[in-house]
Amino acid sequence: ASKEARGGTFCFFTTDLRDAASKTAELGDRLRDAVERNEIDLAYQPLVDPLTNEVKSFEALLRWVDGDEGAISPADFIPVAESDDLIIRIGEMALRQACSDAVRWPDSIHVAVNVSAKQFVRPGFRKIVAAALEASGLAPHRLELEITETVFVGDLKVVDAVFEELKKLGVRLALDDFGTGYSSLGYLKNGHFNKLKIDQSFVRGCTENGDINPAIISAIVALAKALGMETVAEGVEAMDELALVRERGADLVQGFVYSPAIPQEDVLARFADGSIQVTPSGPPRHRADR
Ligand code: C2E
Ligand code: MG
Ligand code: MG
Ligand code: MG
Repeated sequence: ASKEARGGTFCFFTTDLRDAASKTAELGDRLRDAVERNEIDLAYQPLVDPLTNEVKSFEALLRWVDGDEGAISPADFIPVAESDDLIIRIGEMALRQACSDAVRWPDSIHVAVNVSAKQFVRPGFRKIVAAALEASGLAPHRLELEITETVFVGDLKVVDAVFEELKKLGVRLALDDFGTGYSSLGYLKNGHFNKLKIDQSFVRGCTENGDINPAIISAIVALAKALGMETVAEGVEAMDELALVRERGADLVQGFVYSPAIPQEDVLARFADGSIQVTPSGPPRHRADR
């Protein structure tokens, strides 16, 4: 009986795995169709100076609303696209769209675009960035590329060469999700990055009693300052979290306390009166049950 039970468990497992694999393949097919039909959009979330409430830049975030399933998060479909060359197409589309949208914003406002590691090290990436800048007419310093520590898992000679090319092009670079990945602080010392983005996991709940995250936030801010980089606190939702990250010296805040990502039409409407400020609002305190 015990053999049978084990056999049964084994079968159950493979069915599960097969289900997961076919779900991924199916998601990939639908994603490919959606790209084909131009159904993938960008929305823009502001990065705000918490001392003045002025918008300094917007991060472009992919949005996909599937006819049957509704909104599908990039956290779910980006990994699927990355297992395939689809990420190259989606990434190039995002770059081109973000650059051409940003030329219609006030000049002081920059645009940040996420770049997957696979896209970053692919030969010709510099050309794709240069082409997006040229087609849109966006000044290179207004474009910031966000990459994660996963790029450093690849061939470091290749990675360094890409950094040099991009620097020559005049675009800026941000290190995203800092503190959660393959972090060797050595990667910070070659001065590639203009910004460090403190991962949400250090921000969420940071006002809870006894939480060590405020210490981590302060340490990252100090490290960034010493190396001449700006810091962004991501995922700020409550007013007390905003107060904390501001007090700890974060240069910029990105989070629902200022705004979620909004469509380009809403970005344009927001600036129609010439003002670039946003007012924070949210629950007064972080609540663990949210
Ligand atoms: P990310 O680059 O770290 O982007 C920040 C994510 O945090 C976004 O999720 C944003 O909507 C969410 N967020 C911002 N503020 C708050 C907040 O206060 N509370 C909460 N709960 N969430 C907040 P989103 O749009 O679902 O994107 C998830 C991830 O997908 C991104 O993380 C990025 O890694 C990836 N992604 C999105 N667009 C692209 C893209 O064009 N290319 C690539 N390669 N990856 C992308
Ligand atoms: Mg990002
Ligand atoms: Mg991030
Ligand atoms: Mg993140």
